[in-house]
Amino acid sequence: MAINNQDVYRIARERMVESQIKARGIKDERVIQAMLKVPRHLFVEEALRDQSYGDFPLPIGEKQTISQPYIVALMTEALELKGTERVLEIGTGSGYQTAILAETALWVYTIEKYPSLQEKAKKTLFDLGYKNISFKIGDGTLGWQEASPFDAIIVTAASPQIPPPLIEQLNESGRIVIPVGDEFSQMLVKGIKKGGVLHTKNLEPVRFVKLVGTYGFKE
Ligand code: SAH
Repeated sequence: MAINNQDVYRIARERMVESQIKARGIKDERVIQAMLKVPRHLFVEEALRDQSYGDFPLPIGEKQTISQPYIVALMTEALELKGTERVLEIGTGSGYQTAILAETALWVYTIEKYPSLQEKAKKTLFDLGYKNISFKIGDGTLGWQEASPFDAIIVTAASPQIPPPLIEQLNESGRIVIPVGDEFSQMLVKGIKKGGVLHTKNLEPVRFVKLVGTYGFKE
């Protein structure tokens, strides 16, 4: 029996989930199922497809990157999604994390600074049949006031601080996950809003590209 490309990528995905995701302690079954399902190779250019299930980020244009699979899983698990949430994502990039959120939450609102990146991501997500995503071009550090409040917020770029508008736009008991630090290294921070106040804890050290905007880094 012939083995086609679909099988090759499915097997690569199963290996990725075993060796990079489960082996490192990700337990949320809904996150695991999403990572098994979403065809990560379609979110990178053709020349990089064979590397797309590797344990590293890859370039996606405009000097930006698609995050390492484990980091996508870790951040999604930290949001504690049950499938009923409205989630805000800052940094659409390739749209891969967006797809994982579309699989695990009710609705995803995603903001990207570069129109060229979001156009590409939008097409990939549309071709895959996702219908529970709203897109916006702009400065994500300001959040998305008209669509707020959100049950969960994920920032997939490094920030010197947690942007205050994002804390404001988070629901009571809502979760936010964001890499906080300087441009070379950051701590992945998880915050939960209780009684209007954000309570934070550190997850693990990470390295992301810069969040550039009003409450992020300057250009
Ligand atoms: N989740 C994406 C990660 C992309 S990298 C993926 O896995 O493909 C981070 C993204 O944040 C980049 O696309 C970058 O252009 C975007 N970004 C940087 N600053 C931003 C801002 N202020 N608002 C929205 N997006 C921003």
